[in-house]
Amino acid sequence: MLSADEHDAGHGQTETDQASHGGKTCGTCGDTGCSASRRQVEESEEEFAERRKLAARLCRISHKVAVLSGKGGVGKSTVAVNLAVALMMAGKRVGLLDVDFHGPSIPTMLGLEGAAILADGNDLLPVERDGLKVMSLGFLLKNPDDAVIWRGPMKIGVIRQLLADVAWGELDFLIIDSPPGTGDEPLTVCQLIEGLDGAVIVTTPQKVATVDVRKSITFCRELGVRVLGVVENMSGFACPRCGEVSPLLSTGGGRGIALSMQVPFLGSIPMDPMVTQACDNGCAFVRDYAASPTARIMREIIETIAALDQRLPEHPPSPSENENREDRHMRIVIPLADGRLTSHFGHCASFALVDVDQTSRQIVKREDIAAPPHQPGLLPSWLSEQGANLIIAGGMGQKARELFIEQGIQVMVGAMAETPEKLAGDYLAGTLQLGQNSCDH
Ligand code: ADP
Repeated sequence: MLSADEHDAGHGQTETDQASHGGKTCGTCGDTGCSASRRQVEESEEEFAERRKLAARLCRISHKVAVLSGKGGVGKSTVAVNLAVALMMAGKRVGLLDVDFHGPSIPTMLGLEGAAILADGNDLLPVERDGLKVMSLGFLLKNPDDAVIWRGPMKIGVIRQLLADVAWGELDFLIIDSPPGTGDEPLTVCQLIEGLDGAVIVTTPQKVATVDVRKSITFCRELGVRVLGVVENMSGFACPRCGEVSPLLSTGGGRGIALSMQVPFLGSIPMDPMVTQACDNGCAFVRDYAASPTARIMREIIETIAALDQRLPEHPPSPSENENREDRHMRIVIPLADGRLTSHFGHCASFALVDVDQTSRQIVKREDIAAPPHQPGLLPSWLSEQGANLIIAGGMGQKARELFIEQGIQVMVGAMAETPEKLAGDYLAGTLQLGQNSCDH
């Protein structure tokens, strides 16, 4: 890390100074509800000053999203980079903070290896690449392996310092590439970032990886951090010639866990050699390979994150709310024609509402109801009023899926034309077969 002397090398007015003198520092902005406006009982003056400084930085950033994973190597940094670049391409002011000690890979992925960090007073200035502001532990380490041998408290101190010292300025989004797992390091990230909008959890599809996802979701719930959704990476293999995705090992583990733990499933990114190539060459995949089918998939996932970010309730459910929630029962909705699932979701004549008990894995009740008169945009709110938790469909367009997710209704697409009992039974047994999304717009 930079020493205090290096920090003091600049003599200009710092962002924190400007903020406090310009009336933006927490405690001077008049928001008496802000936790940084008052010293806490157990807090020393020094700790309070540090917390105010951090709050002053963070309150100039509209949205903060952490990217988490149960373990390393699943594509967390790849998702973080592409999320940041896609948001920037959508006209947002974006910062990307890499605090993954287990291999800070963001500099390599953005072609910023060896970039020098400049200091301005006590502030560290992020490195800019095409308008994206980037700060990575990798910039601060002489040798990328150095941090691996650091002890826990040192890592936590470094995370704290990076969060407090980097002068991001005004941002729409800060994306944080967190250390993997559910230990002290990601805990520090989630605890220090007040007003964290939520976490995106990245996994690979295999069952062993999904055990870690379950832990990550529980970790978020215990901390009161909203899970924006689960991304299943390296799911199938994208043909380098035609882009068609073929199954590779097992798929669907991330989707299954997301559904069973009632958090949004954001989508599956296939393993694509061009993604590896882009990362190794320092290119942002969503931008530099924008025409590829995998880049389109990534953009759809990212659009969902941006949409969720605007629509979800102000505060994530507290752990106690989660405990009290009736998690056992859920209502599955299936569009019907002739007693079986129809792929014409938006134009079906009726829906089966199948109530299931997730604990005993039993179907409790089935009731069929007539679809309302066709009216664009009506079904999400109408099905929400019917108490739907999950839709099993043959196909559905991305926009429609987002509208259901906003209503808290999960969607599984690619199901076969079976009876509602068979589909719900297979879902409960974890054996529901899903094929191609036969998109019905
Ligand atoms: P993590 O941050 O979870 O440790 P990374 O994002 O660093 O994982 O990815 C690990 C490696 O896998 C990198 O070399 C990256 O290029 C590659 N990778 C990630 N996602 C994909 C994908 N969908 N297709 C191909 N390679 C990928």
